[in-house]
Amino acid sequence: MLIGCPKEIKNQEYRVGVTPSAALEAISRGHSVIIETNAGIGAGFPDEAYTNVGAEIVSTAEEIFARAEMVVKVKEPQPAERKQLREGQILYTYLHLAPDPAQTQDLLDSGVTAIAYETVTDNRGGLPLLAPMSEVAGRLAPQTGSWALQKANGGSGVLLGGVPGVRPANVAIIGGGVVGTAAARVAVGMGANVTVLDRSVPRLSYLDDVFMGRLTTQYSDQGAMAELLPRVDMVIGAVLIPGAAAPKLISRDQLGLMKPGSVLVDVAIDQGGCFETSKATTHDEPIYEVDGIVHYCVANMPGAVARTSTIALGNATVPHMLALADKGWRQACEDDENLMNGLNTHAGKLTYYAVGKALGIDV
Ligand code: NAD
Repeated sequence: MLIGCPKEIKNQEYRVGVTPSAALEAISRGHSVIIETNAGIGAGFPDEAYTNVGAEIVSTAEEIFARAEMVVKVKEPQPAERKQLREGQILYTYLHLAPDPAQTQDLLDSGVTAIAYETVTDNRGGLPLLAPMSEVAGRLAPQTGSWALQKANGGSGVLLGGVPGVRPANVAIIGGGVVGTAAARVAVGMGANVTVLDRSVPRLSYLDDVFMGRLTTQYSDQGAMAELLPRVDMVIGAVLIPGAAAPKLISRDQLGLMKPGSVLVDVAIDQGGCFETSKATTHDEPIYEVDGIVHYCVANMPGAVARTSTIALGNATVPHMLALADKGWRQACEDDENLMNGLNTHAGKLTYYAVGKALGIDV
């Protein structure tokens, strides 16, 4: 199969859909790979890294879309890209169609067979192509939060790990899933005094086991929040209720309970945010202040570490990319129910129930 990878054109997106090692995997199985020039540069992969493994570099995205039997990307196709998709072609990328009727209509009009990373499942009911980005965002959260705690950034001037003779910072992580666990690992490693709150008692037991006393777990309710807020230096919001907007767990009034210069890192901002005062920010202007509390609410945190994120995403996406190339989409999906769950559109029809329900389109 001819696999094509255009350069991402969404603002501030430096990741790339196909790494040189993914290209090599495909080429060694008899497939061909075409990459738009400089597609990998933002993630640290120059054109030679691709030509060295046998991929062909082409000068325009138009050529990729015109020639490729499967287009592999990172972000949802932008309007200019959607116009170039066609029936009989596979699109394999993040789509997030439910809140995006315009994109959904364009994909249906194009007839493309679209497989969305975010709805591919695994045998344990997880979302394996989303998890790597949650790992990245979780590990980044204490790192960026500790930067925001610095005086020059409006923070209280507290060092996360303290020093001998000075207490470390108190960090509360709300939601102990993939993001929360990754955040806890880094915050504990930086020497902070960490509390993880969750509504799932089995999840709290798991965290209690794996961290072996190096953090505190607490059931997440209003009482716990009221008790914690006067003491914390940083709160990391990492909750998810699948298919729903994030619940608001800290109100504007409650900011008054916190010490001035404390930091809120709202990782759940891509689901609307879990603090009442959160609004999405960008890497250009990542923080703002409300009532003396510094907010960090970047919706695409993994973009800040494009190289790590690209490789982590590739590790998760490549096995399915190879199955699609080896067998064609129909056979690959018939053989693997988890990949079938990724199928969102085919030949002008919507094939994913939750998207149809959200947008009022027959599936
Ligand atoms: P996950 O499903 O692995 O974990 C979510 C956890 O939240 C679960 O353990 C759940 O029990 C818990 N939870 C639900 N309601 C709660 C409540 N009221 N109080 C406390 N805990 C509660 O999800 P995840 O992969 O860790 O993702 C977390 C959030 O991070 C999601 O909103 C996801 O979209 C977002 N995310 C954002 C970025 C970014 O760049 N900003 C990147 C990746 C993920």
